[in-house]
Amino acid sequence: MTDEDRAGSLRGRVVAVTGGGRGIGRAVALAAAAEGADVALAYHDSEAGAKEVADLVRRAGTQAEAFRCDVTDRDQVFAFVRAAEERFGRIDGLVNNAGIMPSTPFLEMAAAEWEQVIATDLTSAFHTCQAVLPGMLARGGGSIVSIASRLGLAGWPGVAHYASAKAGVIALAKSISREFGRRGIRANCVAPGVTNTDMGRTVMSGEVGRRRMAELPLGRFGEPDEVAACVVFLLSDASSLLLGQTLNPNSGGLMP
Ligand code: NDP
Repeated sequence: MTDEDRAGSLRGRVVAVTGGGRGIGRAVALAAAAEGADVALAYHDSEAGAKEVADLVRRAGTQAEAFRCDVTDRDQVFAFVRAAEERFGRIDGLVNNAGIMPSTPFLEMAAAEWEQVIATDLTSAFHTCQAVLPGMLARGGGSIVSIASRLGLAGWPGVAHYASAKAGVIALAKSISREFGRRGIRANCVAPGVTNTDMGRTVMSGEVGRRRMAELPLGRFGEPDEVAACVVFLLSDASSLLLGQTLNPNSGGLMP
C-alpha cells in the first residue's frame, strides 16, 4: 500500500510509542496505525507483545518495528530514537507512555523507589523529548503526547512519587509547547483515570475498586482504546490549536 492509498488522520506520519507491547501503549500503537501511521514501538520486557503488535500493524497495512529500550537509560532512549529515524526516515509523533506505579505509604517510601518512579515516569520523557526534538524541529514540526494520570492532578495516598512524576509531565508539556510552539511543536498530555490494563487492574478489583467505580459519573472504568482515541486526536492535525493541554479520559471522576 502506498501513502496515497492510505486514509486516516495520521496518514503518512511516523509515531514512536514507548511501552508499546501491552496495555495503553499497545492500544495507542494499533489506533495510530488504524489512522494510517507507521509505528516504532519501544518495549522493555514485553518483547512477544511488542512483536505481536508490530505484526498486527503490518497486517493492517502500515509499517511497524519493535525496538528494545529501557526508558530510564538515556543511551538506550537515544539509540531507540536513532534506530527508528533510520528505519522510517523521521518521527512526527512521540507518545511517552511507559510507566510504573508501585504503591507505598509515604513515610515508608525508600529513596530508591522514589528515584525509580521519577526515572521511569518523568525523566524518561526528558530523554525521549531531547532525542526526538532536533529531528522534529529540522522537519518543521511534531506532536508529543505524554500519558499523565488523574493522580497527577489529584494526588493520592501511597503514590506520592507517581503523582509527582505525572504532574511533572504535564508541566514538561507546557514548557516544551511554550519553548517550541512557534517552530511547529505541540506537546500535550492525556491523564486517564483507572483503565483496564495490568496496571489498572491492580485497583479495579475488590471492594475498593467497586466503591471507586460507583463514584464515577459514567459508572465504569476506561478501556485502553478509549484512552488511545484521545492520544490519536492529540497526535493529529485535528488538535492543531492544542498546546500544553491535558485531556482527561477519566469517566468523569475528576473534572479539573
Ligand atoms: P501497564 O502496567 O499495563 O504497562 C506499563 C508499560 O510501561 C509496559 O508497556 C512496560 O513495558 C512499560 N515500561 C515500564 N517500565 C519501563 C521501562 N523502564 N522501560 C521501558 N518501558 C517500560 O500499564 P498501562 O498500560 O496501564 O500504563 C501506560 C501508561 O498509562 C503509564 O504511564 C501509566 O502510568 C499510565 N496510566 C495508566 C492508568 C491505568 O489505570 N491503567 C491510569 C492513568 C495513567 P514492558 O511490558 O515491555 O516492560
